[in-house]
Amino acid sequence: MRGSTHGRAPGDAPAGSTQRALLLLGQGSDPAAERGVECPGELPAASDPALVERARAAKAALGERVFVLGHHYQRDEVIQFADVTGDSFKLARDAAARPQASYIVFCGVHFMAESADILTSDDQQVILPDLAAGCSMADMAREVQVRDAWDVLAEAGVADAVVPVTYMNSSAAIKGFTGEHGGLVCTSSNAERALRWAFGQRPDDAAKVLFLPDQHLGRNTAVRRLGFSLDDCVVYDPARPDGGVTPDQLRRARMILWRGHCSVHGRFTAQQVAAVRARVPGVQVLVHPECSYEVVSAADLVGSTEYIIDTVAKAPAGSRWAIGTELNLVRRLANSHPEQQISFLESTVCYCATMNRIDLPHLVRSLESLVAGRPANRIVVDPATAEHARTALRRMLALPAS
Ligand code: SF4
Repeated sequence: MRGSTHGRAPGDAPAGSTQRALLLLGQGSDPAAERGVECPGELPAASDPALVERARAAKAALGERVFVLGHHYQRDEVIQFADVTGDSFKLARDAAARPQASYIVFCGVHFMAESADILTSDDQQVILPDLAAGCSMADMAREVQVRDAWDVLAEAGVADAVVPVTYMNSSAAIKGFTGEHGGLVCTSSNAERALRWAFGQRPDDAAKVLFLPDQHLGRNTAVRRLGFSLDDCVVYDPARPDGGVTPDQLRRARMILWRGHCSVHGRFTAQQVAAVRARVPGVQVLVHPECSYEVVSAADLVGSTEYIIDTVAKAPAGSRWAIGTELNLVRRLANSHPEQQISFLESTVCYCATMNRIDLPHLVRSLESLVAGRPANRIVVDPATAEHARTALRRMLALPAS
């Protein structure tokens, strides 16, 4: 795949050179690694030296009518044009708080643009610069599979005890299903509060949660924050008959985890944590809760993207970090905190391929099509789905502050 950095992160020592004690990031840039996807059709060439100027001019021409959102995992070449940066939920809220913007250009992935469409008014248009920017985790839970799973729960006699909770990283259809069945959405920042709310919806010992689609965030939160045991969790695999679980297992379980994962965070391992500790004295390992239970158990600190940014920002100079999250964010942290030693937990883990589909040519095409009055790649969630999804999102918004 073009644009990924299989085998070597920018700034790492090339093969055969003397290995450094710490794989420092932010020690220079690699323009080739910033280039990602093909730009077919009428898109400007990625090599076009005028691209930055074209983006600036189009944005200036649109003025207040456009609001550009940049997820933390986006490339630098795109982030420089973002009016605001953040995680998926913060960005959707920021979009909703900007009613004067006719166009929301969402530099992120498909489910994020859907959430922005759900939370913004009908006369605002949400644009995703590249429609191929999906999310492999969100794609692991399709509505038909989840409805089938609900039937399996009903046949096991447990559906009435189950409250569905879906991670923000899911399609609008899954958020809609969740809202329709009395559940809510959560983020990696509020998953603990969301689970406590969900378990509180049913009598104490009977309550169960169906957690979609990230098994790791569900397991990590239930076991590490709510005190459940690993035996209280079962994994429902939509690829297997009846999810690969027996009715008896479903009756005993408190957490029914959907078999989904992030293809980036799922690649970190506990062995990598042990290796960086052996290589770098005093290093602190900081990882995202989409990593496996083994990885978060081996790490020093675990938290959402915003938590990771905040933790590094508050750390004293000279701190040593090995960070397990998306590489664009880790590189940016390294660049903005040269007083600290920041490395990527594992140099063979690559960028999020779909996040990286949004590049400068796609952004320029989006902005220029808006200037021309021909919006391209609008994301629209159908009204019935949006209504149920909004219910699930509002339940999350109503959660008590931590
Ligand atoms: S980093 Fe993982 S969860 Fe986020 S968009 Fe990429 S695949 Fe999806």
